[in-house]
Amino acid sequence: MTLTKDLKKKEQPKQKQGMLSNVMEQFEVAANMVGLNPNIKKILAVTNNELIIHFPVRMDNGDVEIFKGYRVQHNNALGPYKGGLRYHPTIDIDSVKALAMWMTWKTSLAGLPYGGAKGGIQIDPSKYSNTELERITRRFAYALGENIGPEHDIPAPDVNTNAQTMAWIADTYMSTKAPSERSKNQHVVTGKPVGSGGLEGRDRATGFGVFLTIKYWAENKNIPLKDKKFIVQGFGNVGYWAAHFLEKEGAKMVAVQDAFGAIQNTEGLSVEDLFKYTLNNNGSILDFPGSSSVKKEDFFTLDCDICIPAALGSQITKNNAHKIKASLIAEGANGPTTVEAEKILLEKGVTIIPDILCNSGGVIGSYFEWLQNRNGEIWELEEVLAKIDKKIKDAFKRVLAKSEDKKIDFRSAAYFIAIERIEKAYIQRGIFP
Ligand code: GLU
Repeated sequence: MTLTKDLKKKEQPKQKQGMLSNVMEQFEVAANMVGLNPNIKKILAVTNNELIIHFPVRMDNGDVEIFKGYRVQHNNALGPYKGGLRYHPTIDIDSVKALAMWMTWKTSLAGLPYGGAKGGIQIDPSKYSNTELERITRRFAYALGENIGPEHDIPAPDVNTNAQTMAWIADTYMSTKAPSERSKNQHVVTGKPVGSGGLEGRDRATGFGVFLTIKYWAENKNIPLKDKKFIVQGFGNVGYWAAHFLEKEGAKMVAVQDAFGAIQNTEGLSVEDLFKYTLNNNGSILDFPGSSSVKKEDFFTLDCDICIPAALGSQITKNNAHKIKASLIAEGANGPTTVEAEKILLEKGVTIIPDILCNSGGVIGSYFEWLQNRNGEIWELEEVLAKIDKKIKDAFKRVLAKSEDKKIDFRSAAYFIAIERIEKAYIQRGIFP
């Protein structure tokens, strides 16, 4: 297949080591700040369950390949485990643990009735055909078995997975149930295609949320977004939709980076034209008419007001943080800024809207999809976007108030609120037995 062949050229960026130490350090700082009960701290410092699965799949040429899949369930004090599945060659148990922890803080901060989990397969999906990816996904879902479930652990899309991946998982999971039970299990995953129980607007939910957090930050500072320059790392679901909504407000996208490389135009790049261009260019932004190419290592140093890392973790590090020109970093990705980089940025006076707030529109959208399925309802796009807006606005206000009250940065404030909510649940319920 040509698509598969061409995709092979795509470079899968390295997921740098250290996401687990990053999240653990953030947690340690926050726990001390909150004065977290030491016994509850012990519970939250570890993951509840960690599953590593090796499973065989038949390839198109008849050979069998063995794949490594993960699901880590960090905590479920506030409700069922929730979090995405990512397909990436650099996934390992530590990065999945880190991502699962971030989900716990994210769902808690958003005020959702969920805990946190994450999973995925150690695979470069661009090396496989669509039929192979379907068999890999279905066999992984089957192997996960009752470790996932609509009231127990609910996966969703993440890096390199999408609505199609979720449709395969939902169908596989439901197919293992007795016929009368099948339709009751549709909400075993969220982020499904709209025709198969998915939610209108779930596709743009994360990017919309990123945009909203930027909008509420700008409103609070009395800064108009019109003509503000932004750069986006990652032009997938998160980066594209964040850019789409920012452009509608009059902001200007001046540079983009994806897995293939980076481009810029100081006068602005049309978000919609670039998106259409990628559809006919094997998903790549490279050689977009009117743009010039930028070295990957220079991307974060480009002149702009707002920087949106919306790809992988550990991208803003101590090596590039001091060269960043933006005054606002909006973390569309999970864990894009290392702890050392954050220190440098805060000293420089840069504001960071932390991932657990900035990209929470996705899991908030997932929550509405889950409710829609559970209640047998079908919601309209405007209704969904208004509901996401309300939740993000509320979370943003709480983070802002906490940061002003305690004189702390946004990440510390977000962690403060997230951890306090979980602590309260443990204190109310006690520890069994
Ligand atoms: N993968 C997304 C995240 O990291 C969405 C998770 C979900 O909807 O469960 O927040």
